[in-house]
Parts: sequence; C-alpha cells; structure tokens
Amino acid sequence: MSSLAHLRYAAALIVLALLILICVHPASVQPLFTGGEALPSDAVVLFDGKDLSEWRRCRSDEPAGWKVENGYAEVRGGNICTKRKFTNFQLHIEFWLPLMPKAKGQARANSGIYLQGRYEIQVLDSYGLKSRRNDCGAIYGVAAPLVNACRPPEQWQSYDVFFRAPRFDDEGNQISKACVSVLHNGIWIHHGVEIPGSTVAAMGGNVTAPGPIMLQDHGNPIRYRNIWVRPL
Ligand code: MG
Repeated sequence: MSSLAHLRYAAALIVLALLILICVHPASVQPLFTGGEALPSDAVVLFDGKDLSEWRRCRSDEPAGWKVENGYAEVRGGNICTKRKFTNFQLHIEFWLPLMPKAKGQARANSGIYLQGRYEIQVLDSYGLKSRRNDCGAIYGVAAPLVNACRPPEQWQSYDVFFRAPRFDDEGNQISKACVSVLHNGIWIHHGVEIPGSTVAAMGGNVTAPGPIMLQDHGNPIRYRNIWVRPL
C-alpha cells in the first residue's frame, strides 16, 4: 500500500471511530420528557421554578417555606399543599433524588405526591430494585408499578399522573373508587388502578370534596420542579 493509501485508510478509521462514539454516547440518548415541552394551553402552573406562591404548609395558612433555588424547590420543614383544590386532573411533576448510599429501603430519598392530599404516589430511590407496593412509582400500599422505570439518583425524573376522583350519587353513596394511571419517565407504570381509600400518612378529609396536591416531607432533601396540572 502506498503512503497516501495508508493515510486515507487511517483517516477513514478515525471518522468511523468518531461516528461510533457519537452514536453510543449517552448525551445522544434523549429522554421522553425533558421538561422543555410546550405547556398545554389549559394547564395551571403550580411551580415554575421561581416561587411557591401556589403552595402553603398543609393544614395552615403559613407560607410553604421550602428552599427555592436554581429552578427547583427542596423539601424542608413539613409537608406542603397547593392552595387550589382539585377533583379530576392531569398532573406533571419532576423530581430529583439525592444519592444516599448508606440509607436503605424507606429511608433512601423518601418523599411522595399525594393526590387530593389522600393518595400517595411514592417518591423513593428504588433504582434497580424489584419494585414492591412501597417503592418509587407505587401507589403506596395499593399497587407496585408495572415496571421499575427509575433513573439513578441525582437525575431528574418525571411523573405524569391521570387521576379521577371517587364518584358518589346524590345520597352520598360511592359509585366508583378513585382511579389513577401514571407515567414514570414516560413509561406507563399504572393503568386505571382503583384506590380503595386514603393511603398511609395522608391528610384524609371528606372524600367527596376536592383536595390539594400534597408533597411529602419525609426528612430527605428531595427536589421538585416544573409542576403543572390540568383540571379535567
Ligand atoms: Mg413517601
């Protein structure tokens, strides 16, 4: 082979190696939900990264008091609830879990999102585990997620929740239970699951009435961002 042919051969190899690098590099893998999607025109923004004016401490008129910086709110000093109350809705929410290598089980980056203040979608570091009814994505104590869709800690994740409140007739008899479907990082983890009643550590209250979205303080510095809801 001439030296020119050698050069061409080497150049071709370098280009091929670069192409392979670009294709397999994790930065080229796009998550389904990046948080940058256009907001639906009927969405109510509950947290846009600037302030928690849509929130307060639960069962109180005091300000939420969680730390807000860099576009996120971090758990601090008690559960917070939306000032607005909801019946049927779609909810989008993003969360970030700290790495807590020494903590185990329910002590590892625990928080939770309570629909109507009554039904918890668990927030926990369950990365790589066989999911049970109290792991991340679970309807707490009711149903494990269909699949473990968790990302490792220290990465942003999302829930898209589709909730229908329990229904009652004019006499107050329950006609149907609360029902929920959930996407975790864009993956369907609950499909029309009926929830028999309030989950553990919920606010409870009159189940025929609308309720707030509640974010749980379980003593771990979980971060939330980009929260919006579409009342349906
Ligand atoms: Mg929890």
